[in-house]
Amino acid sequence: MDGVLFHGETPLPGAAAFLRRIATLPHLFVTNNPIRTPAEVAARLASMGLGRPRPKQILTSAEATARWLARERPGFRYYAVGAAGLDAALRQHGVPDAGQADFVVVGEGPGLDFETLTTGINLVLKRGARLVVTNPDTSVDDSRDGAHRILPGGGALVAPFAAACGVSPVVIGKPEPALFQMACERLGLPAQACVMVGDRPDTDIAGALRAGMRAALVRTGRFAPEAPWPADIPPPHWDVPDLGSLLRAWQHLLG
Ligand SMILES: [Mg+2]
Repeated sequence: MDGVLFHGETPLPGAAAFLRRIATLPHLFVTNNPIRTPAEVAARLASMGLGRPRPKQILTSAEATARWLARERPGFRYYAVGAAGLDAALRQHGVPDAGQADFVVVGEGPGLDFETLTTGINLVLKRGARLVVTNPDTSVDDSRDGAHRILPGGGALVAPFAAACGVSPVVIGKPEPALFQMACERLGLPAQACVMVGDRPDTDIAGALRAGMRAALVRTGRFAPEAPWPADIPPPHWDVPDLGSLLRAWQHLLG
């Protein structure tokens, strides 16, 4: 969403028109951000004039993590380190239990300190809990209150747990396949029938192509209009300046 539909609190030109044009097609909004709940994300899009999505149309990495854990171990017990949205998502499927957790789940937002790190590494090293992180981003942009800041992402916050335990975490968010696969499942479509529209080659595009989806890059976010395509990532099916250009490229498909 960020870098595709909006920047901070500002909708990008053409985003509202794009959403109106695809309104009758099955679509979801997918985000690596585990902090806001789907209802909060839906309300935020509506407040920016970006349609009226239902919470069911929002898939966050926190929700995908909760579903993945429930498949691995129904009724799982967990210890969460991260913002309130992560705990709210995990509670839908699991039981918080700092003493007997099956999983130590790390997400973005406040929560990491000496105590939570100590609890987490003891669960992993002494109880055999698995270390899981909602998303691998090392840093993320934050523009609440109008001021731009860079915040540590899930990848940075899980790093001290991984270092202390000598294990690699299970990663749910983009570019790993779990979030993409869950999105296609929720749409009820095979991956080949879905297009991922994103602004980052390394996560949105590389991950979608690996998951078997088609991919469209818009250069309105992290990836600059003039930047050469990275040699180590296969090119997307569409590489366009913005959503307006993507609509024009899809004109013959949309009819
Ligand atoms: Mg983005």
